[in-house]
Order: sequence, then C-alpha cells, then structure tokens
Amino acid sequence: MILANENFGKLQASYLFSEIAKRVNAYQTANPDASVIRLGIGDVTLPLAPACVAAMHQAVDEMADEKTFRGYGPEQGYAFLREVIAESDYRARGCNISPSEIFVSDGSKCDCANIQELFSEELRVAIPDPVYPVYVDTNVMAGRTGEAVNGRYAGLHYLESTAANGFVPPPPAEAVDLIYLCFPNNPTGATATGKQLRAWVDYAKANKALILFDAAYEAFIRDPEIPHSIYEIEGARDCAIEFRSFSKRAGFTGIRCAFTVVPEGLKAYRRDGTEVCLHQMWNRRHTTKFNGVSYPVQRAAAAVYTPEGLSQTNAQIDYYLENAKIIREGMQALGYTCVGGDNSPYIWVNVREDSWAFFDRLLHEAQIVTTPGAGFGSCGEGYIRISAFNNREKVIEAMGRIKAALTR
Ligand code: PLP
Repeated sequence: MILANENFGKLQASYLFSEIAKRVNAYQTANPDASVIRLGIGDVTLPLAPACVAAMHQAVDEMADEKTFRGYGPEQGYAFLREVIAESDYRARGCNISPSEIFVSDGSKCDCANIQELFSEELRVAIPDPVYPVYVDTNVMAGRTGEAVNGRYAGLHYLESTAANGFVPPPPAEAVDLIYLCFPNNPTGATATGKQLRAWVDYAKANKALILFDAAYEAFIRDPEIPHSIYEIEGARDCAIEFRSFSKRAGFTGIRCAFTVVPEGLKAYRRDGTEVCLHQMWNRRHTTKFNGVSYPVQRAAAAVYTPEGLSQTNAQIDYYLENAKIIREGMQALGYTCVGGDNSPYIWVNVREDSWAFFDRLLHEAQIVTTPGAGFGSCGEGYIRISAFNNREKVIEAMGRIKAALTR
C-alpha cells in the first residue's frame, strides 16, 4: 500500500496567493470592466537588462554550433559564474568566500526548501512571524511541526517581528537549532543592522545552531551602514548559510537563477556529538538531485556583473525603489505608519484593522490588489504589504485611487 506523507494534511488550507487570486478573480468576474492594478505578488515587471539578453543570445548561438555546444554542465554552476559571484558579491565586501563555496541553482525558493534535507527531523526551528511562507510550509511537509492551532504550528519557535522590536526579532532566551532570517525582509521590508546580525551570529555560535540567511532582496540595500551579507559579520562562516537570487536583483523570475553559499568549514553534529561537514553534504545532495542551471541563463547571470550589466540592473532597482518611495510617502500622507520601501521593494503598512477586510476594501473600492499581512503569520494581522514591482504610471494611479477610496 502506498502510504502518503500525512504531514501534508497539517498544511493550512489556503496558500496565501491562491486565496488572493480567488478573491481577485471573483471581483473581476463580477466587474468585468474594472481595471485592477496589482501591487500584491512580488514579481518583477521590467524586462531583462540588455547586457543579460545579449549574453544569453550569444550563449544560444554557441549552443547552435557543434564546436561550442555544451551538454551537461557542472551541477554546482560554471566556474565563470561562481568566480565572479565570489569576487563581486563577497570578496569586494571583505567577506572571505571562495568560488567553491557557491552553489548555483534555479531559485532561492527551492534552495531554502531543499536545504532542510540535511538536518534531523527533531530540530527546534525558529521562524520569523510574519514570514515568507515557504520556510514554514516546507518544515511542516518535512514533519518538523505538530498541527496548526490558531494559525501557528505546534513545535515551531516563532520569532515575533513587531513594531516594538522594529521588525527585527532578537535571539530568543531558549536554545533553538535552525534559524531562518530574511533581510531585507519579505514581507516587512525591514533591514537588520550589523549589531543586530552580530547578536544572531553570537547566539548561533553559543548554541551550535545554524542560521539560514535569505538575502533575496540584498540588491535593494542603499544605506551604506546596512550589511549586504551575513558574512560581513565575523564568525558567520562558522554558523550561517546564505541564499541569494537573481530574481529580484536582475529580473530573472522567469528565467531562474540563484545561488547558495555553504562555507567549507560549516559543521552539523551527529547524535554522538561528532561533526559532519555541511558543505560536503550539500555538494552531495546538489549533485545527486540537480543537474545545473542552463548555460545561457548562467551566461546571462554572469553578465549582471559586467559594467553595463551593473549599471542597467541598478537602474532597474532604482526605478522600483522610486516606486516604493511614492507608495510609502502616499500611505504616510494618509496617516498610516509604514516600514520598508527604502532598502526594500516592500512597504509594510499598519492599517489598524483586520488585514483581509482592508485588502477587500482596497480591491472593491480602489481596484488595487495588495497582500494582507495576516497571510504571512499572526504578527501580520493589522498590516498589508504593498509591492513596488509595477510600472510608474500604474503606481501613481494606484496611489491616487487609494487616496480617493480612503478619504471618501
Ligand atoms: N526568498 C524570499 C524572501 C522571496 O521573497 C522569494 C521570492 O519572492 C524567494 C526567496 C524566491 O526567489 P527565487 O525566485 O530565486 O526562487
């Protein structure tokens, strides 16, 4: 008899974005002429930068010629990409990361879901609330939680990110083993200072814990005081894995390329206290279950680091950040307290009422789609997330409509 993984039965009924899609579709069916503006799901809207497109075209031409054709590439990624990542994203910032510690993949979503395969089922897992839903749901699927009660799974340690702690939770008083951190944060847009990250690194080292640091939005950091990488904190090589993605940094959501940094000295422990090397484990896992990102996509990713690629992709991020500023200032002018939107594409707005009710109000009265904070966890109740990924005209129009609806 084929037994099912019953942990799937614990997953809470509706995945956030399918519930949003259901409500938007119902509204659109009832109001076919309404022009809905989507500031909900965090997908990019600008096309690929010309430098990336040119590199990809050239790579496709190479694939069309017998002399330059390439079949399977190295599972961990081509050296040309791993080298430029190690140099530009890490060594240039004083982080001692070598190309062999970079694992190129087809997305941070898969990486932060798959990494937990390396760890025991009994780990005590700490997850921020509110949170990118993938961290929670993949741990539920893996059997690391009990049932959900009032929106929280038994067995998980929730790191509450609230206005009181500036949306950067401090390390807990008790010991946890696996810690998910995401800065700049999705959904709150908050960033962590070097001092705040230092506290987490010290905690992880003291507790033989591991930090999974999701830096998918790193490219939006503009404040020179904010660390771009957990490895800017001394000692983080001994207690942290970092996830980065080209999705938001260079508009790769549709062509897929990301990477994970697993330092060579990083350890986990067997039950008898002896050490195992996480870098070797991840290398084994990656090469066994993954066959590499396509050559043209890796060439496009490497083109991000050329002078033209950097200037074109940075201009795209500046464009989204300008959208974010318009949204944040618009909501603040209406009397709402906001975080994010300065070093992040997300603005987290304190709406002071039920977040799904506010979502419905903006959908029905302004035809604007946002994301209700409650969908990201209990601490998201009373908030909505507005995304800056859209074109300027639509953002300006959306803010006009929101103003009209909320001051009516
Ligand atoms: N991590 C966070 C916090 C995200 O918000 C997202 C995408 O929205 C991802 C990871 C996934 O990125 P990728 O497109 O590389 O899978």
